[in-house]
Amino acid sequence: MTRPSDLKDGVLVDGGPGRFGPYGGQYVPETLMPCLRELESVWLAARGDPAFLAELAELQADYSGRPTPLYRARRFEAACGGQARVWLKREDLNHTGAHKINNCLGQVLLARRMGKRRLIAETGAGQHGVATATVAALAGLECTVYMGEVDMRRQEPNVQRMRLLGAEVVPVLTGARTLKDATSEAIRDWVTNVAHSHYIIGSTVGPHPYPTMVRDFQSVIGIEARRQILEKEGRLPDAAIACVGGGSNAAGLFAAFLDDPVALFGVEAGGGAHGHSAALGLGTPGVLHGSYSYLLQDPDGQVVPAHSIAAGLDYPGVGPEHSHLKDTGRVTYDSVDDAEAQAAFGDLCRLEGIIPALESSHALAFCRRFLRDEAACARLRASRTVGLDGGPLVIVINLSGRGDKDMHDRNEMHDQDGGGHEQAR
Ligand SMILES: *Cc1c(COP(=O)(O)O)cnc(C)c1O
Repeated sequence: MTRPSDLKDGVLVDGGPGRFGPYGGQYVPETLMPCLRELESVWLAARGDPAFLAELAELQADYSGRPTPLYRARRFEAACGGQARVWLKREDLNHTGAHKINNCLGQVLLARRMGKRRLIAETGAGQHGVATATVAALAGLECTVYMGEVDMRRQEPNVQRMRLLGAEVVPVLTGARTLKDATSEAIRDWVTNVAHSHYIIGSTVGPHPYPTMVRDFQSVIGIEARRQILEKEGRLPDAAIACVGGGSNAAGLFAAFLDDPVALFGVEAGGGAHGHSAALGLGTPGVLHGSYSYLLQDPDGQVVPAHSIAAGLDYPGVGPEHSHLKDTGRVTYDSVDDAEAQAAFGDLCRLEGIIPALESSHALAFCRRFLRDEAACARLRASRTVGLDGGPLVIVINLSGRGDKDMHDRNEMHDQDGGGHEQAR
């Protein structure tokens, strides 16, 4: 098994709670174990505490703007061939522009309960860094955000946002200078400053309790979407689709539908000529950042850098729950490449007046491809409960974030491309 690449001198601790089948666990240095145990017990107490839940619900409603709407994208669905009614769960309308704030609001309340005065975070697209800097300001805590130098260039507006919000943004110059390297630096900081600092991991990754706890805080997406689709369509959707980086927006959406007869699709970044980020599709199980899960590694167990047009999907690992859902077959994982994601991005901009995040555009692109595939649609129809055979398919897509942050990135790509013409559409 792969050793955690960033914890070479640490003692590995196997077993314990937080397993999804064989995946998950707590592969961390001994020094972090008391802190993980404290976090677990504070979180378990909080999720059963009406005062905590009331405070979180108030912040979700009045600070972040929940519930986010479920919007029927009529012109987008027509462009997909008219086979389905396509509903977008508008997580892009959250305060700070993505689903990341759902997790940060929960974790900052836990940090306060633990008496921590400082937050640490890693960030790729910058969305999690902005969300963490935001809740740090809200709660009056110090904040340090680690960000790969490549991502800092790709996501310059978010770097400025974090600094405006009072956070220290630390450029990470090691490795591929993207999310994995930033995560390693954040863990190092945490090991050193664990007494007074809480590490807000931005996705359903890392050692237990993070994957379960983050899913818990993101499950508000699925709980709302399920209620909303029942109100609007009078029935459950045939399918729910979300992009998968570390897997938090997908886990949050899927959580409410796991026990329903709803087909679930997780979409990884297939990338392009420079590589991909499809840990589930093309990786093998190993240990990264404290947990056992599928990841991109070479035969010697060296982690292979991820690549995607979407900085938020550029992570070589994936949450352990998704590894288990892949193995059990409950969720189907697929990938779309950079060009398909860009084409779907353009579609949503021009057809719906919504600029989606490039990450979310992967889910949109998968939906488009799926609905243009007669055989795939027929299979989905055939799997339906008797009595619904005639009606159109109903699909829910999680629109995990808005795309303003990606404009700089897209311009840069067009410039490199030699003339600003539109790619892929
Ligand atoms: C961070 C991010 C993602 C990927 O993270 P998950 O944990 O897989 O959800 C997807 N979309 C947006 C908009 C993001 O900011």
